[in-house]
Parts: sequence; C-alpha cells; structure tokens
Amino acid sequence: MAYQTVNPANNKLIKEYKSHTDADVEAALKTADALYHSEWAKGAIEQRLPVLHKLADLIDSRSEELAKIASQEMGKLIEQSRGEVKLCAQIARYYADNAKQFLAPVKYKSELGDAWVEHHPIGVVMAVEPWNFPFYQLMRVLAPNLAAGNPVVAKHASIVPHCAEAFAHLVREAGAPDGAWTNLFISSDQVAKIIADPRVQGAALTGSEKAGSVVAAQAAKHIKKSTLELGGNDVFIVLDDADLKKAVKIGVNARLNNAGQVCTAAKRFIVHEKVADQFLTAFTEAFREVKIGDPLDEKTTLGPLSSKDALETLTKQVNEAVKNGAKVHFGGKPVEREGNFFEPTILTHISRDNPAYFEEFFGPVAQFYVVKNDDEAVSLANDSNYGLGGAVFSQDIDRAKKMASRIETGMVYINWLTDTAAELPFGGVKRSGYGRELSDLGIKEFVNQKLVVVR
Ligand code: NDP
Repeated sequence: MAYQTVNPANNKLIKEYKSHTDADVEAALKTADALYHSEWAKGAIEQRLPVLHKLADLIDSRSEELAKIASQEMGKLIEQSRGEVKLCAQIARYYADNAKQFLAPVKYKSELGDAWVEHHPIGVVMAVEPWNFPFYQLMRVLAPNLAAGNPVVAKHASIVPHCAEAFAHLVREAGAPDGAWTNLFISSDQVAKIIADPRVQGAALTGSEKAGSVVAAQAAKHIKKSTLELGGNDVFIVLDDADLKKAVKIGVNARLNNAGQVCTAAKRFIVHEKVADQFLTAFTEAFREVKIGDPLDEKTTLGPLSSKDALETLTKQVNEAVKNGAKVHFGGKPVEREGNFFEPTILTHISRDNPAYFEEFFGPVAQFYVVKNDDEAVSLANDSNYGLGGAVFSQDIDRAKKMASRIETGMVYINWLTDTAAELPFGGVKRSGYGRELSDLGIKEFVNQKLVVVR
C-alpha cells in the first residue's frame, strides 16, 4: 500500500512518501544487528537511558507541532493529540527513570546454589503499528526496547507516514545511535521477510485480528516471540447504585474519544434496568450536544474517522446491524459533508444472533444493553470473543471489585474508563491478543531472562 498523508477531514492528498526497497530493508537490518552486537546494546543500561530523557524533553518542547501533525494526518481532535504527545514524553521518562530497576538481576532461593535471573536484550524486534495513536503506539515499543538494548525496525500504518517520520527524527535527535529505531515504509510481504530473518528475534503488533494472526503465525513459524494488542469490544457496566451523572459523562468520553477508534473504547454499554432509561436519556442528550467538525478547531468535540475505508466499514456494519434487528436510537449514518465523519450513534435491541453483537465497531457507535442483575451483566460482558478492557460503575466498591474479578479481560477500571499510563500494564486475553506493554511487565516481553547458578 502507498504511504500517503490524506487529510481525513476533507480527503485531500497532502503528501506521498517513497516506499523502502528490499535493499533499504537489508541495510536497516544490517545496521540494527550491528547495534545489537555493540557495547551500546549489550553494555550498561546507564549509557542508553539518557536518550530517553532527552527524547522526553524534546517531545515536550515540540508538543504543539507534533499534535498538529497527528490531527492533520488521522483526524484526532487537537486537544486529544496534545494529550497523546504528553503521554509519549511520560512513557519515555518513565522508562528512563525505572528501567534499571526493572532489569536488575532477581535472586532466587534454590538448593542448587546461588541463583539469579539476569535480563539481556534478545536482538532486533520488528514492530507493526496502527494509526489510531500514531505516536503513542510507537513509544510503547521504543521506550522499553531502547532501555533493554533491543534495536527496533518499525512499520507504521500506511496512512500516518508523517507521524512515522517525525517520530524517527526525534529519536535520532535525542541521540539514539544508528539502528536503535528505524522507520520503514514497507509492504506486508517485506514485513514477512524481516520476521523470517535470523537477525530478528521478536515481533510486536498492534492492530486488527487479521494482521495480528498473520504476523504471529510468521513469528511462530520461525520460533520467535510475539506480542499482540488487537481489537476489543469493551463493556461499560453501569449498576443501579452508580453515580449516574459521572457515569454518563465518562461513558460519552469513553465512546467518542478519538472518534471512537480506540481498542479499549467503551463499545457495549450494559446498564441495570433500574437506571437504564435515565442513563440512556442523559447519554443521548450528551450525544446530541456533540460538535462535529475540523479536528484542529478547539471547539470541535467529534472529528472524522481516519480514512474513507474506515467510514465505509463502519457504515456497512451499522446498516448490517439494523438489517438484523437492531434499532437506531440516535444517529446512524455518515454526516453529509466532505470528509470521513460519522454521526455519534446509539444502537439498541441487539440480539445475540445479530452479527453486531460480537463485532467491534471502530467508530462513534455505542451498543446499549439492559440487564436485570450483576450476574446477567457479567454473562453478557464475557459473551465476547474479545477480552481487552472494561469499566464498572458502582458506588459500592466491594460489589464493583467482585464484578471486576469475574470479567474476562486484561484490564478493568472501576468508576473510570479503560485508560492507559506508563506505569500500568496494557493488554488483553482471548482474541484481543497476548503479552503486555508498558510498566515493568512490558519491558520483560523481549528480554532474555537468563538464569545463572553458582554451585
Ligand atoms: P490493520 O491491522 O490492518 O493495521 C495495523 C498495522 O498492521 C498497519 O501498520 C498495517 O499496515 C499492518 N498490517 C496489516 N496487515 C498486515 C500484514 N498482513 N502483515 C504485516 N502488517 C500488516 O488495521 P486497520 O488500520 O486496517 O484497521 C482495521 C481494524 O483493526 C479496525 O477497525 C480495528 O478493529 C482494528 N484496529 C485495532 C487497533 C488497536 O489499537 N488495537 C488499532 C487499529 C486498528 P498498512 O497500514 O500498510 O495496511
């Protein structure tokens, strides 16, 4: 696929980027592998961490410029782009400050002698990343791997080449050596060749199930570690004792943030029957107040979807859901204006035999379900192929905690939307993927946890 910047607010082509050839890929792998075998990667962590500190400072000092690039390229509201950029600096700083402790040797008590586990880099890692958080997704891979000493070759989504290039420049400017992070504008076939290459020892992918299963199969074929962060169909459960005002406010944000294109967005609203009408009325009112428009306009509260394809897919999904019995309670179609805008939408009456029941809607479409009790809420929540995040709203924290333990996902937030922070692990179960990013867990995905025993 051609790497292009197209403004999703009007579908005007801004710039085309030249793809990298196989010779470029070979040169990138050679450089990355040479770095892996160098003292920089294999030696003391202290020599690598200053790059992350510098990178964090650079990002902070250029935050406005970077935020505009993201908003223009994939349609994120400018305020949300600023938030994403700030989070990237936080992640870089977090690993700069904590990676040494995370990768310190861990002692084991054993009758076989003095035992400990050391953490060593494993080699070049291939990262395949999506457009929805065009800087954050890259930082989640770069920061832990740079700290650990793994060079990364990265294939970003073809619709965000400007973000890909800007990020690579920043990493270089922060003082990373050649090969620490190489951006490649390449095809899926080239990704497959890279994964097969013996110099590459891991593959990290965030994106669709389809891409995830292809890349993971390629990694498995060559006996290489992979991590997958795929889609989700997260629940937002509102119990009868919830603070409704708060639940509505956070729920609307949880569904509409990033125009609904978030793997952990609240997609299925499961509300206790005692408060269902009240919740739906207030939720609908909030959707009615949404201001659709240019993502660079500070007053806009809902921007476009990232591409024409994304708009077509979502439109088809909603039409199909309705054909199979769902009711459009609010919205339901593309906005009549240039660009890839879709109305904030609420679907009700979705039965289990409606394909929509199991589908992820990657856009501003909320599914609304009513339940009689906690057990029913948990059954509905777990009746999903996905298992990424989820939210439970209740003023009875013990009750919410019990429910959180029963939900089959990698993350649950109580009285908050599924969120992310540098210090918290991020990832899922079931068809949402495996492995964790961020936190102490994320940095240990692509390291050799080597046991040494002295008898
Ligand atoms: P994709 O999974 O197609 O894209 C994600 C990344 O994977 C891109 O860099 C893409 O490259 C690459 N890719 C796709 N197929 C392959 C392959 N066979 N081998 C190697 N790399 C590949 O996601 P889309 O952008 O098409 O979005 C489709 C759906 O995926 C969404 O509707 C949503 O459900 C899910 N998604 C989930 C995300 C998450 O955060 N978990 C993020 C984005 C999407 P290229 O751009 O060149 O095709």
